[in-house]
Amino acid sequence: MGVLKHYRALLPIADKTPDVNLEEGSTPLIYLPRVSSHLGIELYGKFEGCNPSGSFKDRGMVLAVAKALEDGKRAIICASTGNTSASAAAYAASQGIPCFVLLPAGKVALGKLAQALMYGAKVIAVNGNFDRALELAREGAEKTGCAMVNSVNPYRLIGQRSGAWEICDVLGKAPDWHAIPVGNAGNISAYWAGYNEYKKLGKIEALPRMMGFQAEGAAPLVYNKPCPNPETVATAIRIGNPVSAHLARAAVQESGGEFNAVSDEQILEAQRILAAEGGVFAEPASCAPLAGLLKFKREGRLPEGITAVMILTGNGLKDPDTAMSQVGKPIEINDTLEDLMRVLECR
Ligand SMILES: *Cc1c(COP(=O)(O)O)cnc(C)c1O
Repeated sequence: MGVLKHYRALLPIADKTPDVNLEEGSTPLIYLPRVSSHLGIELYGKFEGCNPSGSFKDRGMVLAVAKALEDGKRAIICASTGNTSASAAAYAASQGIPCFVLLPAGKVALGKLAQALMYGAKVIAVNGNFDRALELAREGAEKTGCAMVNSVNPYRLIGQRSGAWEICDVLGKAPDWHAIPVGNAGNISAYWAGYNEYKKLGKIEALPRMMGFQAEGAAPLVYNKPCPNPETVATAIRIGNPVSAHLARAAVQESGGEFNAVSDEQILEAQRILAAEGGVFAEPASCAPLAGLLKFKREGRLPEGITAVMILTGNGLKDPDTAMSQVGKPIEINDTLEDLMRVLECR
C-alpha cells in the first residue's frame, strides 16, 4: 500500500499532503539458512532491492516529494552516488515535475544511470566527487527554489524509519544486531530513530546494537576523520564526509554498537556468498554488512546464536559491470545432446 498509507499515523502527513505512492516499502525480510549456519547466528536480509526503484531510497523519497509538493515546490534537485537520483527521478516522473540530478562523473553504476535517464531526469555529470556534487546541489537549490531531496532534507530520514518498523512488525521484536552499510550516514540514523520510536510506543522491549560498516577506502566514521578522496568498488558508499555523521555516531554510541571497515575484496566476496549461498543478489555496498559479519566471525567476535538483520540496501542488477568482473563466462556448447551430456554432472 506504500509507506505513506501504511505508516500514516507515525508520519507527518496532513489532509493536504498529496498522495504520492509507488508501492514502496513492505520489502521481504529473508531468512538465510545457509549463511546463518555458516556464521552460527540467525541471519535475515531485508531486501530493499525490491523497492520500486530498486533501493531503500524510495522510503524517504516518497515523503520528501510529497512534502515538497505540499509546500508548493515545482521541481526537485539532488546530488547522488546513483540510487538517490534513480529514486528522485522516479517520483518526479510519477508526479510530472522536473528533476535535476548531479552525479560524480564516471562513478555511477550503469543501472542507476540508465534509470535516472529513463525516468526522464536532467542528469548532470560533475567532474568532482559526491561530496562536491552535494555542495553544488545545495547551492543550486538555494538559488532556484527547487526542493532539495538529499538526506539533508529531514523528510528523507523520517520516511526511512519505516524500515525499522517493518522489521519489528515481522519479527515481533528488534534484532540483537542491526548491520547496515554507511555512506552519508542517514539510513543508520533513521533506523535508530525508528527502533527508538517503536520502543517508546511499547511495540518492542529491547533495542538492537547498531553495527555500521564502511568500505576501507571511504571510512571517515571508522577512522574518525573526513576522507578527502574516497575510493571503493561499492560506489553507493563512496562518501568521504557524511552529512549525518553526528546522528550516526550517536546511534552507535547509544546502542553499544560500533563502526567497522571492510576491504573491497571482502565486500565482493560477501556479494558472491550472499548470491550463491543465499539466493539474494544485492549491489556491492549492500554487502558490506555481510563482509563485516564474516570478519567478526573470523576474529571470534560474533556472539553465537544472536538474531541479526542486515539491510540489503540496493538491488544487484544495478551494477552489472562489477558483478560480471567477478564471475566466469557461460559454458558454450554446440546444440547437441552429446555436448550437453559432457557438461551435466547431476548424477
Ligand atoms: C544510499 C545507499 C547507501 C548508504 O546509505 P546512507 O544513508 O547514505 O548511509 C548504502 N547502500 C546503498 C545501495 C545506497 O543506495
